[in-house]
Amino acid sequence: MVEKRETSINGQTITYTVKRSLRARHVRLEVGRQTGLTVVVPHSYKIGQLPGLLESRERWISSSLARCSNFQSPYAEEKLGSGDTIPYLGRDLKLVKRENHSEVDSVTLEGDTLAVSHGLFKNGILELALEQWYRAEAARLINERVDRLSSQMGIHCKRIVIRGQKTRWGSCSHKKNLSFNWKLIMAPEPVIDYVVIHELAHLKEMNHSKRFWELVAQHCHRWREYKKWLRQHEANLTAKLCP
Ligand SMILES: [Zn+2]
Repeated sequence: MVEKRETSINGQTITYTVKRSLRARHVRLEVGRQTGLTVVVPHSYKIGQLPGLLESRERWISSSLARCSNFQSPYAEEKLGSGDTIPYLGRDLKLVKRENHSEVDSVTLEGDTLAVSHGLFKNGILELALEQWYRAEAARLINERVDRLSSQMGIHCKRIVIRGQKTRWGSCSHKKNLSFNWKLIMAPEPVIDYVVIHELAHLKEMNHSKRFWELVAQHCHRWREYKKWLRQHEANLTAKLCP
């Protein structure tokens, strides 16, 4: 039996998978790059005990998730700190450490400044908090753009999923679901629109034929330029558009 549940760790909501195992004799925590946190519990384990157990392992979970996180500092090996910049919608945001005014840690965008609670400025935790902020921003913006562009193109999708694909900016399925990489939120808005248009166009033309590119061009005249932008930046963000 597999079940998805949520918990709060260091003020961040984490979705995790609970697996009941006939063979497990103790609770086991696993963290994987693709799978996130998985909690394997013995068959007869009382789920009500889980929150307490996770709380006691909070530090381990948080540092393991951060280690497996897809977030890569644009400054490669350097640790991020207050005053550094991170990319967002094609511009640079300055990270600024803020004292907390409440119990809850937060990441807040204020113009070109990203104010991050003092409590999140710890190794590993900061990267995790930033990735979660990026993911939430990506979900908000991409949902909004898909809504708008799909009605403009007269092509509708069923579901939008925001993922952390290593090798894709976006993809579509024959079930008419679209997936987008959260790292797109670092790209300028017209580039994000191009990726949305590209994936929506695939719902009509499931290939990269001449007809497909004509359809893309109808809704995005400068697609060549945006495609080039993604190619130039994919080394930093390690993703490509479609196979
Ligand atoms: Zn494609």
